[in-house]
Amino acid sequence: MGEMEPRFADVIVDLTARGVDRIFQYRIPAALLGKLRAGVQVQVPFGRGDTLRRGFVVAVGSEVSFAPEKLKEIEALLPGALPVQEQLVCLAWQIKERYGCTMSQALKTVLPVKAQVSARKEKTIECLVGREELIVLLNEAERKKHRARIRLFRAFLENGTLPWRLTSEKLCITAAALKPLEEKGILTVKSEDVGRNPVRGWKRDVCPPVLNEEQHAAVCTVLGDYDRGICNTYLLYGITGSGKTEVYMELIAHVIEGGRQVIVLIPEISLTYQTVMRFYRRFGGRVSIINSRLSAGERYDQSERARRGEIDIMIGPRSALFTPFPDLGLIIIDEEHEGAYKSETVPRYHAREVARMRAAMQQASVVLGSATPSVESFYKAERGEYRLITLKNRAKEKSRLARVHVADLREELTEGNRSIFSRRLTELLKERLARGQQVMLFMNRRGYAGFVSCRSCGTAMKCPHCDVSLTYHADGRLRCHYCGFERPMPKLCPTCRSPYIAPFGTGTQKLEELTRRAFPKARILRMDADTTAKKGAHEELLQSFSEGGADILIGTQMIVKGHDFPNVTLVGIMAADLSLYAPDYKSAENTFALLTQASGRAGRGELPGDVVIQTYAPDHFAVTAAAEQDYLQFYRQEILYRKLMGYPPAVGLLALLFASRSEEALSKAAEDMEKSLKRQYALEGAVFIGPVSGTPYKLNDIYRKILYIKHENYAILIRVMKTAQERERGRELYKNVTLQYDL
Ligand code: ADP
Ligand code: ZN
Ligand code: ZN
Repeated sequence: MGEMEPRFADVIVDLTARGVDRIFQYRIPAALLGKLRAGVQVQVPFGRGDTLRRGFVVAVGSEVSFAPEKLKEIEALLPGALPVQEQLVCLAWQIKERYGCTMSQALKTVLPVKAQVSARKEKTIECLVGREELIVLLNEAERKKHRARIRLFRAFLENGTLPWRLTSEKLCITAAALKPLEEKGILTVKSEDVGRNPVRGWKRDVCPPVLNEEQHAAVCTVLGDYDRGICNTYLLYGITGSGKTEVYMELIAHVIEGGRQVIVLIPEISLTYQTVMRFYRRFGGRVSIINSRLSAGERYDQSERARRGEIDIMIGPRSALFTPFPDLGLIIIDEEHEGAYKSETVPRYHAREVARMRAAMQQASVVLGSATPSVESFYKAERGEYRLITLKNRAKEKSRLARVHVADLREELTEGNRSIFSRRLTELLKERLARGQQVMLFMNRRGYAGFVSCRSCGTAMKCPHCDVSLTYHADGRLRCHYCGFERPMPKLCPTCRSPYIAPFGTGTQKLEELTRRAFPKARILRMDADTTAKKGAHEELLQSFSEGGADILIGTQMIVKGHDFPNVTLVGIMAADLSLYAPDYKSAENTFALLTQASGRAGRGELPGDVVIQTYAPDHFAVTAAAEQDYLQFYRQEILYRKLMGYPPAVGLLALLFASRSEEALSKAAEDMEKSLKRQYALEGAVFIGPVSGTPYKLNDIYRKILYIKHENYAILIRVMKTAQERERGRELYKNVTLQYDL
């Protein structure tokens, strides 16, 4: 049986800021059945006199909250697309409904903050000298070790014209560094209206590579639908280096040739100079890039350019999704598995979902790309909700996958090796240092340092109820952050009675210290939150490493994402377990993605690479699958586990986050909510967990509790959320408690 045809529409009639918080329900007349969707304009009778007014549909459905016969009927469907501003308001409404925030919070997320628009135009740097002279200049700069100049001249050899904002940001070249070169007539900084002179002055990628068969098939699948007006969501699953970016570019070219626009989401950390320049070379000034470092004014500027039609492509992190393109045709989300696509502030939206809402409204296609798709997306692709497209081979014949070695740290210990470097890693490290090749040491430390494991047998202390690891607290007790279970810290390992059981805590700083001691002659760079706090420090460090400024780069997540260092031929993953036992049902998924990505860092160039994964759990499927670089093997195991444990995506999970300065108010509110929701939804099959303490329970003097509700049906969870919102509203009990929703 198909879904019932929607017979009712939710309409926003008033566009003033105050009125926008209300919707009115209307009946859909027979003539318009099947023709209305969110984002179209309609004419409706309004008020006592039934004056006809313009409104726009934010949702259609087959349920109403009043008696249907009392509803007025929609008068007419107005032609023409909804202006983009109103589409975004409509999107805000959907975000509010879906994520349980207020309309004003949703509007703040969706609409650009009006800010003083700077008169500044987009600037470009043009090289004025010929190739030979440039090479002479480059040699001189190399002799004098003028880092910034070396970078600039190298970039000029590839492109005669460079976008100023990007160059200064990504290549760390300041205006002061350009000045003397400008005076000598080597370059000129031009301030031109890029919008009106599309691609002028750009040395364009005249002939992009001819796509291979797989890439071509991928493009045909998407465009075959697109050209027939079918808008699907596609999951482009392709191993690292399989040529996904080339596929994106081909799709983009097609869509903008048809006069429509494209949004490309790339996690900020992966948006490197190389990636950005690939888009610039192909699309020139029609592309704009935003990042979180832009000022409000610069942001507003870019969004105005999009609205005025001066650009066709916006590349950026999550927030680029709200670029006011009037006729959006395609949204691409690269590295779709990245955690950064989920907002951690209200509204806690996921870019993947909001992209689909926006695409549905503007009849655009969505392409999700990844080498390690999120379990959720792959599950949807399996069930036919997304169309799956696979790229199995590397695009460049020369590049090949690295050799992966798994070092069992338990074995190292029993055989008397107490150092944090396994024998295999030590041996390979020495060899690379001797050959003058570079090494990356990766330490996964996402603040999970509290997990406790046995260094003899690898046993991790887990919750008997939840299958997530317990966290060590300063009071010497271990706690489960899902169900509240706690126990004292054991003195001996419960499995093997070894005394070497302790909370994990080696950070990058410690790792640097130990590496210096073990390899005193090596030049070492460390990159983590501490060393990159300063603006631009992140790029400086990476630049310096890629220019050969160090032999070993030590770091966290930051170093494994998106950067190509052709001279890196060895990657060491110090303790793969750290993320494996994170108190989170996604820990295996995150570990697999990280290990796979880290492995992908070795052997990007012509030189063959090695990867050493050090672990206490060499038999864990996330480790073995990553070692074999086999996503499907991982996925099949993981989805079984999720089904068994009742975790998403097999089951929907709603979290109610309570916060309060008063512990008492917090407990009362959380208990009241649990009782009242249970009364209504337990019979419908909803499962309640908690309320449990947040991690950490007390943060900045605010106490936090979480109530989890599971159900197979997401629609029921949305209803639960609505009920909770109603209960919270106006009740004395909730006065000093804030409540957030995370579905
Ligand atoms: P991914 O985005 O999947 O990691 P890329 O699109 O970055 O892969 O491609 C990896 C490398 O292969 C890049 O250097 C790219 O220029 C090259 N490449 C991609 N497609 C082709 C092709 N059809 N022919 C030749 N080289 C290609
Ligand atoms: Zn043990
Ligand atoms: Zn538990």
